[in-house]
Amino acid sequence: MTQVACPACNTGNRVGAGDPNAAKCGRCGEKLFTGAPIDVDDSAFAAHLKLSSIPVLVDVWAQWCGPCRMMAPTFAAAAEQFGSRVRFLKLNADQTSAPGQLGVRGIPALILFHNGREIARQAGLMSGAQLDAWLSQAIRTLSIAENHR
Ligand code: ZN
Repeated sequence: MTQVACPACNTGNRVGAGDPNAAKCGRCGEKLFTGAPIDVDDSAFAAHLKLSSIPVLVDVWAQWCGPCRMMAPTFAAAAEQFGSRVRFLKLNADQTSAPGQLGVRGIPALILFHNGREIARQAGLMSGAQLDAWLSQAIRTLSIAENHR
């Protein structure tokens, strides 16, 4: 059973057996998967980490960071491609205390979480192909580990 936080109201929702892209929040009625990265603040970030049973990928970025802005369309395209398999979040480094807590020294930084725990990290600008390869590999490792549990 997949569980995620609602992009709009951060409420935990269980996603049923049907098409996840049609699933809606039981509280606010918004779609649970939009195919786009979600801009999060500290509390929304914490909610997604706590409530998501799928991997959560966060892009730590800032407006003044050129490589971050170059990376944005790549990240958005990956969000659409991975759909309901991975939750894509964007965390503005200037509007949160999380980067320091996460040990982020340079941006852009991508951090992949599962069950609230960091499982992979990648710093610096990546191409779409690099991002796809890195994320696919990380997810594959994760599902192998789950199957052996
Ligand atoms: Zn909602």
